[in-house]
Formats: sequence, structure tokens, C-alpha cells
Amino acid sequence: MGPFVVHGEQTMWYFDSPHVIFGEEALSHLAQLNGRHACVITDRNIVRLGLAQLVIDQVTAAGLACTVFDEVEPEPSLQMVQRCAAVLAQHQPDWIIGLGGGSCMDAAKSAWLLYENPGIEPESVNPFDQYTLREKAKLIAIPTTSGTGSEATWYAVLTDTVEQRKVGIGTRGMLPDYAIIDPVMVMSLPPSITADTGLDALTQSIESYQSSWRNDFSDAMCLHAVRLIFQYLPRAYADGSNCEAREHMHNAAAIGGIGFGNSQATLAHCMGHALGVLFHVPHGRAVALFLPYTIEFTANGGDSRYVDIARALGLRADDEPIGAASLVTAVRDLERQLLQPLTVRDLGIDQTSFEHTLPELVGRAETDTQIATSQRIPDSAELRRLFDYAYDGRTVNF
Ligand SMILES: [Zn+2]
Repeated sequence: MGPFVVHGEQTMWYFDSPHVIFGEEALSHLAQLNGRHACVITDRNIVRLGLAQLVIDQVTAAGLACTVFDEVEPEPSLQMVQRCAAVLAQHQPDWIIGLGGGSCMDAAKSAWLLYENPGIEPESVNPFDQYTLREKAKLIAIPTTSGTGSEATWYAVLTDTVEQRKVGIGTRGMLPDYAIIDPVMVMSLPPSITADTGLDALTQSIESYQSSWRNDFSDAMCLHAVRLIFQYLPRAYADGSNCEAREHMHNAAAIGGIGFGNSQATLAHCMGHALGVLFHVPHGRAVALFLPYTIEFTANGGDSRYVDIARALGLRADDEPIGAASLVTAVRDLERQLLQPLTVRDLGIDQTSFEHTLPELVGRAETDTQIATSQRIPDSAELRRLFDYAYDGRTVNF
């Protein structure tokens, strides 16, 4: 992800991707593992749904011992990750399997780093420093939602429950060795989670195509992910048992994740993170809500390229402004089909508490790390207006 500066002036870029095993039966790759002991890092819901057992059966068939850590919370905490790392230290696995949504995979990446580097402080982890990884274990990520793309990135977000703040942890080595994209893992996903997570994949892909860190490699992934999501998300939402739609959506999330992991998300993520934390809105729902407004804002700056995305989707796209407008309409139409909120008011947040929180929303959004990679970076006053316009659904005309 992003440019790495060497020798002052030269800039070198990397493209990172896990080995991807995809399609029906992808899970059976686990039955071919060589090793002694696998530790599955997951949550209780995944165990209850029987998905952890599918993984255990394959790992056991490969002749490995298997330990399950099922204490990952929806917002994985530093404290839980440290407990998980202690379990890893006790069992000394040579395979670590992150199984679940973004939280479980982020927890697995972080616990793996702590297991390989005993005694390091998670807060001190810096993307530009070198850490030991893969001396004790390799990492497999198995997503059970089609959205976050965490299976394909080297970054993790944790919550410090003592200090009440988010802690980002990332170093390029934290990329999973394998991502197993098996549609069987998402067949029972309820419609609302299908929509929320699918729209996260869409927002990440559109933003990473527009980010100032975009590059030829990430562009290819992002553009195709957007195409697949528009084609298959409505079908996966309307009929969860549609195997074809589930499979393509599961692939799209990983493809978008590779694009995002080698570029960066932007403004809708900054605004969505702020709203999500302060009003407890699911991540994908929050970022997707802001996407049309931030497309308008970025296009108004005159230096966007939404026209490419509009063309890829077969929308009207004579020039950049028309392409951007077509994309905004298409995103909103998709959100309507998925019964998603289009404004902050639609979320049931009343005007008084919204206005009361506005300074903090702006403060959080403008200090979000992903603001820097936005193609057009708003100042505080513009951010305030953007939140305001998104409250009641006005067209962004500035
Ligand atoms: Zn996201």
C-alpha cells in the first residue's frame, strides 16, 4: 500500500496480495496443510453457526492438532488480542487461521504479530519498521462476510477499551499468506449484513480508484470489483441462496480488498468512521451513506475520474461531470434497492443531537488517516457543510 520512498527522490511501489484460493470447495485446501498445530481465531457466533467446525474438520483431516480461540468481539480490543497472543504462545501453532468478518481477521493478524514478536507494544507498530513474521507460523484468512476485504490487506484496527480509542496496527508483513474465498461461508448471511458489508466493498473500491495513492495495479482490481458488486449484490441480497451471486460477491470483496490494500480509501471512510463511532452505525452502512455526497464534492473540484467507473457500468458518461452524476444516481438506486438509509436523518438521528455532535464529527473526520489520500481534501468548514448536506440529503454544489 502506498509509495515507499527510497534514497530521497526515487519512489518505489509494491503490489501485495495473498495467495487466493476461491470457489466452491476452496475450504478443502486446508486438508492439504503441512504442519503440526493450527489455531483458529474466531467469535462465538461463527462457532454457533457451525462454520468453525467446517474448518476444524478440514484441518484435522490434514493431521494437525487444532485449537479454537473464540473470544473476538465485534470491535476487537487490544486487551482481547493480548489474551489471544498468550493462547498462541501457550500452544505454539505453526498455522494461524483468522475466521470470520473483518474483526476476526484483524484480531488474527494482530495476535500473530504479537506471537512472533513477544513483548512489543501494539501501539508502537510502525508500517516502516521491520518485524519478525512467519518464523513461528503462517496466516490464513477465511472471510465469512463479503465486504471488508481484510483477508487481502495487511492492516488491522483494534480498540483500546481502557483509553476508549481506536488503534491501527499495520506492517506489510501482516498480509495473510492465504485467503480462502469459499462461498459456503456466506450462504447463510442475513440480507441486512449482506447489504452493509457489500456496500463497504463498493465504497472501498470506488474510493481506492479515486485515491491519490491509486496506481495501475490497484485500478484494475477496483474497477472490476465495482462491476461485480453492481451486478451481484442486489441478487445476493434478494435471494441469499443464489450460489452464483454469493460466489461473485465473495470474490468481489476480496478483489476490492486487494485494490484497497494497494491504494487507500478516502473521504467517505473518514466521515463514516466518525458517524459510526459516535452513533453506533455499522461500518458499511455509514461509509456508503456518505459516498454519493463525497463523489459530488470530489467531482466539483474538477480533478476526478468517476467517468471511468460510470463507463465500466454502462452508465451515461459523456464527460467527467455527467459520469460523476450518473455514478451518484446509480449508487443511490443500489442503496434504495437494499433498503439502506440515504441521509443521516434516515438513520433515525434527530436534528438536535446531530447538531450537538457536529463539531466532534468534523474533528474526527479531519484527523482520520484516510483524509490525506482523498483526491479533494475538504477544510473544516467544507466538512461541516458536507455533514450538514448529508443530514437531509441535499445535492453538494460546492
Ligand atoms: Zn471500509
